Amino acid sequence: MQTEAKKTEQHAEESVKAINLISFKDVAKIYSGNPLPSLAGLNFEVADGEFFCIVGPSGCGKSTILKIIAGLEEETSGEVVKPDKVAMVFQSGALLPWLNVFENVCLGLKAKGVSNAWMKEEAYKFIEMVGLSDYENKYPRDLSGGQRQRVGLARALAVSPKVLLLDEPFSALDTGTTEELHKDLIKIWKTTKKTIVMVSHSIEEAVSLAGRIMLMKSGKEKNIYNIELPYPRRELEADFIHHVQTIRKEFFK
Ligand code: ADP
Repeated sequence: MQTEAKKTEQHAEESVKAINLISFKDVAKIYSGNPLPSLAGLNFEVADGEFFCIVGPSGCGKSTILKIIAGLEEETSGEVVKPDKVAMVFQSGALLPWLNVFENVCLGLKAKGVSNAWMKEEAYKFIEMVGLSDYENKYPRDLSGGQRQRVGLARALAVSPKVLLLDEPFSALDTGTTEELHKDLIKIWKTTKKTIVMVSHSIEEAVSLAGRIMLMKSGKEKNIYNIELPYPRRELEADFIHHVQTIRKEFFK
């Protein structure tokens, strides 16, 4: 039996969890020159500290959502609530080739105008967190695809964003590298307690990582799934397979 104190504590925890950092209410997006709506009455919310994943067929509006959250695009109608401090990690890593790892990670911090000492401390902290301590003087051309994504992740984390936006960050990597990065991303998410919104084309990847998954179709949410599995999640376990199959069935309907 649960004691009253325990119940109150649990309720308080749930209330804290329920703070939404992101909210889309009936949001539509029509790009100029494109008559078809890219988002068409989209509704969802993301709570503080969540790992939220968006999946859906190509062209259904996933990247448009990230662009709106990042302030790179504006919604045409509807109501969007989003935090002002977000950072994006792109599929390519988007590193500047003429800067080394340390300098690439410092980019966002430099733009914020922080002191050199603080910049150095923060940059080294996140370079270490992504496992690249021995690579700080290397240039992007000397790094593997996975290492470049790690630099992109460190650069995004260094600016202390409220929300980390990941746009298919592992889609160009081989399976082994992707698995390593998945493990490390979960570790980083748990350590930093950041809110993560990630777009993925892989249902397996979404089920490996996310607490909730939004399946989209034609600019709208089709379904939102809770994935209450402990980490590390294993692709061969029955619960994992069940979630993947449930989402896949709906994906192709
Ligand atoms: P996804 O990330 O799911 O592949 P996007 O959000 O990139 O989808 O695109 C959704 C739809 O909006 C697509 O039909 C795409 O062609 C269109 N679109 C995206 N960006 C633009 C743009 N800048 N101008 C016109 N149409 C766009």
